[in-house]
Amino acid sequence: MDKDEYGLQYWSRGNFIVEDGLVKVNYKSAPSLLEIVEKAEKMGLTTPILIRLPHLIDRQMRKLYDTFNNIMEKEKYGGSFQAVFPLKVNQYSGFLNEFMRYAPKYNYGVEAGSKAELLLAIATNVHKAPITINGFKDREMIELAFLATQIEHNVTLIIESLNELQNILDTAKSFPVAPNIGIRIRLYSYGSGRWAKSGGIDSKFGLTAAEIIQALALLKQAKLLQNFKMLHFHIGSQIGSIYTVQKALREVGQIYTELKKMGAKDLNKLNIGGGLGVDYGQHKASNDRNYTTEEFVSTVVKIIKEVTDEKNIENPIIYTEFGRFISAHHSLLVTSVLELYSQDYCEKHLTLKDKNNPKIIKVLKKIYKKIDKKLGDNGILELLHETTEHLDSIETLFELGYLDLEDRANIEILGQMIIKKILTIIDRQEIFEYVALLHKIEERYLINFSVFQSMPDYWGLNQKFPIMPIHHLDKKAVRPASIWDITCDSDGEIEFDEQAPLFLHDIDLKKKPYYIGFFLLGAYQDILGMKHNLFDRPTELIVDIDEDGFKIRNEEKSKSIIAILDSIGFNRENIFSKFKNQINSLNSRSSQEKDVIFQKINDYFDKDNYLKTDDKQKSNSTDKERHKGSNK
Ligand SMILES: *Cc1c(COP(=O)(O)O)cnc(C)c1O
Repeated sequence: MDKDEYGLQYWSRGNFIVEDGLVKVNYKSAPSLLEIVEKAEKMGLTTPILIRLPHLIDRQMRKLYDTFNNIMEKEKYGGSFQAVFPLKVNQYSGFLNEFMRYAPKYNYGVEAGSKAELLLAIATNVHKAPITINGFKDREMIELAFLATQIEHNVTLIIESLNELQNILDTAKSFPVAPNIGIRIRLYSYGSGRWAKSGGIDSKFGLTAAEIIQALALLKQAKLLQNFKMLHFHIGSQIGSIYTVQKALREVGQIYTELKKMGAKDLNKLNIGGGLGVDYGQHKASNDRNYTTEEFVSTVVKIIKEVTDEKNIENPIIYTEFGRFISAHHSLLVTSVLELYSQDYCEKHLTLKDKNNPKIIKVLKKIYKKIDKKLGDNGILELLHETTEHLDSIETLFELGYLDLEDRANIEILGQMIIKKILTIIDRQEIFEYVALLHKIEERYLINFSVFQSMPDYWGLNQKFPIMPIHHLDKKAVRPASIWDITCDSDGEIEFDEQAPLFLHDIDLKKKPYYIGFFLLGAYQDILGMKHNLFDRPTELIVDIDEDGFKIRNEEKSKSIIAILDSIGFNRENIFSKFKNQINSLNSRSSQEKDVIFQKINDYFDKDNYLKTDDKQKSNSTDKERHKGSNK
């Protein structure tokens, strides 16, 4: 395999490695993803399978705390660091319970943006780390925040409007203690990238300068100024450029010091929101962010220190609400290829005539034979040019009647054979200019998953996720691939993209399965996924890895069809009686036959909705790699 074939060096952060042709989890005993999937299949689970790797949640939390602590020490920063996790990024128990296992170690807190999230935050945050509350709040949500404060949670209510503040002040009258209060500010500075809308003066959120001044007056009047502890902003998710952070921080820093001067003496926390980016790109050219994590943190610490030092104000405690950065890495989906859709032509498909084959066929056959590594890249490119020229001419020759249908088919097959042979030899970087050729031999891989359920941001925002086979990596993948999911929606396709080409293997699916991994799915995808075509959440499991192997736990099968129907308002009894009535009213079937039909249909209700791969595939598989490695 080319070293950078699937761009692991860009996106995997050393979390996954390729060894012996397999993708392995680069942690302790380093099991391969194939072993994990095969073990799950032995347990009766079927693909698609969402795998959660909790050690990667811990790794990201530690990375964040270590980076902030180291840089704060180096810069002699006077304040401390506190992280909270925004629940909207992933509320699923499969993630959140694992997150909460590590959270006490860091005193890691949570951020809530709705009543449901707040209740979940209070319930799961048993170590009582800080809770911040953003988003639009009604009286009920405000009262919940007060109740959480009564049970000694460290809560900060971050106001989005003066009206909210008024409600807080009113509610405070009937409670002995009030939560901390924060103000979200509306910045001039914009974010960048796909999610830029959260920042900027016309954003949905935050108070303007005039409103902040009014808020301060209201707090003073209500004698609650001492509860005003936090200034908050959020530029947007997946910040692409460090310049936007610099600009926003200078603006916020000014506001912070101004407020201190205006008498907000207990204000001591600056919450910079979320947005720390994740590298999703599999190719050098895809730049998700123009900074490293260290650079981001260093920019934050230095600017805040500089702005506050300048005004002789204590360095604030820095809060972050990074979500994507913490959760994206921990989960991936492995699923199987069901079918290859383009015909894979080779020599045996040629139907050459005994004589009078057109000259172009002889020429192409000669080119095919000539292709050899020894010719070097330039020699091969020359042959490629020649081939392209010939292929370009067949349309005209056909229209003019110089070729018949059989000739045309033969030429197309020969063309494919030549391009494929060249692709196995030549360095792909050289080939990219021949995009048209790649499209000519493009293969459509039908894959057992739903883009809408498992990668909704691909559908909604064209967000790319790393995709690669999890085995066969000791062989060069030569087919330019586009991916079809199993929904009946033409948006459920990941097209071959010349800028970010994906190559997959030529696999005889009748002989063995072919598994594809979709990575970095742990942020937003879990909760945004939708049930298009009634493909619900895939089977999922948690994998713990230690020195001796790995263990699968908390496996949860994809919902049965009847449960899915139930979730959209069709009750089981009702659906069953509709079936019973239809079958019972048949005159053409004996009652015994009717029972059999009903029983068979009944069984389908208890299966999940995903496609089932042929069992033959698995029993036929003799691939050596299937038996490699330890399987604990
Ligand atoms: C969405 C959101 C976050 C999380 O952003 P990420 O890009 O996932 O880090 C943090 N804070 C607020 C207020 C948000 O709305």
